[in-house]
Amino acid sequence: METFDFLIVGAGCAGASGAMYASRLNLKSVMYGEMPGGLITTTHLVENWPGEKSISGPDLAMQLVDHATSFGVEMKNEKVTEIKQAEISDQSKTAGFIVKTASNEIKAKTVLIATGTKHRKMNVPGEDELANKGVSYCALCDGAFFKEKTVCIVGGSDSAAKEALLLTEHAKKVYIFARSTLHPEPINMDRVKKNDKIEVREGTKIKEIIGKDKVEKVILESGEEIEMDGVFIAIGHIPLSGLAEKLGVELNDHKEIKINRHSETNIPGVYAAGDVGDSEFKQAITGSAEAVTAAYYAFEYINNNEIVFE
Ligand SMILES: Cc1cc2nc3c(=O)[nH]c(=O)nc-3n(C[C@H](O)[C@H](O)[C@H](O)COP(=O)(O)OP(=O)(O)OC[C@H]3O[C@@H](n4cnc5c(N)ncnc54)[C@H](O)[C@@H]3O)c2cc1C
Repeated sequence: METFDFLIVGAGCAGASGAMYASRLNLKSVMYGEMPGGLITTTHLVENWPGEKSISGPDLAMQLVDHATSFGVEMKNEKVTEIKQAEISDQSKTAGFIVKTASNEIKAKTVLIATGTKHRKMNVPGEDELANKGVSYCALCDGAFFKEKTVCIVGGSDSAAKEALLLTEHAKKVYIFARSTLHPEPINMDRVKKNDKIEVREGTKIKEIIGKDKVEKVILESGEEIEMDGVFIAIGHIPLSGLAEKLGVELNDHKEIKINRHSETNIPGVYAAGDVGDSEFKQAITGSAEAVTAAYYAFEYINNNEIVFE
């Protein structure tokens, strides 16, 4: 069984940044990621990554992954299914971790969990039935299918506003339905206000999505019916913390992994970073910084402990 110093679960902004730092600290590192690049690959423009005035999400993600692998990090396009602490006989030493994937078992002295999130659903009738038939969670991926059509974005965040702006490049009309208020970054609020194709409806919820083979209309909670070709849902994300929970890592009430300023979890040798963690501000740069911090403290931990596997 191969042994790594630093095993990273997740190949998004956080995982790739941590991997890059770890390799420069001479830690033998491997990064597992089902979706190389992670969530940022689903946004068209990133304008707040320091040093890049404007870069596409996929380009930024791939630059980060390339940067890590160019320093020798192994990238595995595979799902991690289990992480458990090794059972050791000499309790004066420190137990490493056994990590399982679909095809393999690996030993890791330390682990960084940077598994990110999955999209939150609205859970209204029609959402599942019409998924990929007009219901989408990614404007960048599906927006071009809606040339000269009427679409809506559900959500009030900065991401929702950005998705709406992207959709105006294709659709003839874009509604934003925000349950309470629309509250993007001020720069994106200005862009929304200046865009004639966008109609913002605050305090609005969809009750049902109607359509036979594709989305035809939405019914709002007020009872109003609006003809619609596409429904894009941007109402947030749910942390992918199941692996961590099974290992015994402490989560908060939102199922986010609790970390301290060293990106340490409650289990020594296990670190977490990025959107799966409990930091309030979830951006590419903040997740990357947490992962870089994790790499540094993993390096210290490896130097200060005799880590064994049996
Ligand atoms: C529409 C939109 C626009 C955005 N715009 C911006 C922006 O302009 N600027 C900005 O800074 N942020 C933006 N964000 C937020 C940003 O995308 C996230 O904060 C960032 O991508 C989180 O990175 P991460 O590495 O924590 O997680 P993710 O990017 O979600 O990566 C998680 C990784 O873990 C992998 N994974 C999960 N479970 C497993 C497993 N069991 N085994 C193996 N691999 C696994 C996934 O495949 C993926 O590779 C935006 C988000 C959205 C949705």
